[in-house]
Amino acid sequence: MADEVIRVLVMSDWKKIARFPLRRGGIRRRLLMWGLSFFGIALTAVVMAGYSYTVRQIKRDAAELQAEIASVTADRIHNFVRRKIERFSDMAAAASLYPLGSKEQQLLAALLAKNDGSFTDVSIIDARGMEGLKVSDRRVYFPSDLSDQSKSAKFNNGIKGENYISRVYTSDKSQPYVTLAIPLWGSAQSIVGVVSAEADLSFLWEVIEKIHFGTAGYAYLVDEHGNLIAHKDPLLVLKKMNLRQLDGVQKFLRNPTRSDPSPAHKGRGLMDRPVLSTYAPVPELGWAVILEEPLDAALANVETLKRYALVLLAIGLFVGAAVIAWVSSKMTGPIRELHEGAKIIGSGNLDYRVNIETGDEIEWLGQEFNKMAAELDVSYATLEQKVKDKTGELEKANSQLQQANCSLLMANKTKDEFLGVMSHELRTPLNVIMGYTGMMKDGMLGEVNPKQEEALQKVVNRSEDLLRMITEIMQATSIEAGAVTVESRDVNLVSFLDDLRSSYELPLGQLNKDLTFKWDYSPDIPTIRTDREKLKHTLQNLINNAVKFTDRGYVSISARYVPETKVVKFKVADTGIGIQEEMLPSIFEIFRQVDSSETRNHGGVGIGLYIVKKYTEILGGNIQVESEVGKGSVFSVTIPG
Ligand code: ADP
Repeated sequence: MADEVIRVLVMSDWKKIARFPLRRGGIRRRLLMWGLSFFGIALTAVVMAGYSYTVRQIKRDAAELQAEIASVTADRIHNFVRRKIERFSDMAAAASLYPLGSKEQQLLAALLAKNDGSFTDVSIIDARGMEGLKVSDRRVYFPSDLSDQSKSAKFNNGIKGENYISRVYTSDKSQPYVTLAIPLWGSAQSIVGVVSAEADLSFLWEVIEKIHFGTAGYAYLVDEHGNLIAHKDPLLVLKKMNLRQLDGVQKFLRNPTRSDPSPAHKGRGLMDRPVLSTYAPVPELGWAVILEEPLDAALANVETLKRYALVLLAIGLFVGAAVIAWVSSKMTGPIRELHEGAKIIGSGNLDYRVNIETGDEIEWLGQEFNKMAAELDVSYATLEQKVKDKTGELEKANSQLQQANCSLLMANKTKDEFLGVMSHELRTPLNVIMGYTGMMKDGMLGEVNPKQEEALQKVVNRSEDLLRMITEIMQATSIEAGAVTVESRDVNLVSFLDDLRSSYELPLGQLNKDLTFKWDYSPDIPTIRTDREKLKHTLQNLINNAVKFTDRGYVSISARYVPETKVVKFKVADTGIGIQEEMLPSIFEIFRQVDSSETRNHGGVGIGLYIVKKYTEILGGNIQVESEVGKGSVFSVTIPG
């Protein structure tokens, strides 16, 4: 089934996936990346958890199995030995019915040795410790072989009424033996001697030999000193090995009476191999059954499991990747189609429609997209007409504007030319008029009476006014034409102002005005770099206006250097007629005069302040005015110092 799914995926979708390489698809790449990451992590976590749980389970099962087998084997060995002792006790009980050293006793001892091959050297010792008889299935004992056992442990324990089992020792043939001794009871319930025998423990080899578990598990028996008593390989036993250095035996020697606290523990075993070992103490005897299973055999299942887990993980990841890739391509395919559609429509093909039939939100999106394209098509068609119409209108308006602009330029040029020519043409005859009038007034062309002189003086004055006006018109014309340039040089303001001042030291009385000039500037006002002529013209204009519009009072001129802002501030104040507030913003416009009969009386063409403002700006400064009708005006010019 799984193969079927993968095959179908491979056939139908890998081709599509291949058409859109990973790096191109943003959504698909992210889906793949995130999907695979999450799925991979989840799958790995599940597989790892399952793996470690199973490994723990395998180890726990191994431990339980080993502990179980070890303790069952220990019990079996205990039972075996107990049965031997019981048989030995039965023989002793029978022997106690006969006198010490009697033929019957000898017969019973011989029967024991004969019937149970593990008993040899059965001897009966009297209460003083002297052997009364000694029987063996291996040799014949003579009375001279009987010896004094009064010092032996077996006698001394037995005579005290205790059952005695000696430590394990090996005979000449190297088989392990123990010596058993039990008291011999007389008829009056008193101990009359001790019966002892040597028991061959090789019968335990059979028990141990039969223990098999897992694929390579085995068991062996050690005594309380770690000496090997029984093993499936008798040769090892015959080598009289002491195994106290092995981990399983060490565990036992540390805890000889309790069962193994850590069964199936990893450590070094027989043949120096890593093993899982468990011990179980044999009750009463002080011995222990040790179980060992080579580590590689014990954990063979774990290795297999690891391989299965890895294969499972790989298959899971592959199937996951295939499913995610399939799902993502199913999702992104229609989005790509939308994208392509948008590109085609964007390139101008408004008839194009996308065909998405996914039955979900993307299909709705596709329908909306088609609707939008259709509307775009319609509005584009009408828009084209509208643009055409508007363009026509614009072109018309544009050509009209161009014509108007041409006319304006022409008119302006004509005006400038007219003004220039006129000013120039007017100045020449005016200068001639002024020259001859001056000569006549000064009597150079014959005697003139005082009345004639006064009249001639008026002609000169008015001519000067006219000349000034013409000059101003010329200046304004060149400002308009952008032909004014700045000629900066160092200007010593003190001598500059001194010069300006001296030019106004005319007898004001001849103007019929009750006026005084006030000059206020400090002698340490610095030298600045500016256009001297333009500055002079500016201040002269302001002073002339002040004089013109003031009949009585004063005209004050001040200059001050402001070190903080590094500027020079000139102020021209008067106590004249003042300017209405609403007129203030417009007095700097060309040909602008405060239109009242009073100002009209003062003459002028309304150019002076226009030139002043333009010159101030050309010098990098500015001009401000404050005024009150009937009280006077203050013009402040600030230029960089
Ligand atoms: P005009 O040649 O007419 O004086 P200006 O440009 O110099 O032209 O001045 C424009 C107008 O500003 C003047 O007509 C006048 O009405 C007003 N004006 C200028 N200076 C003063 C002043 N100091 N006091 C009162 N009015 C002034």
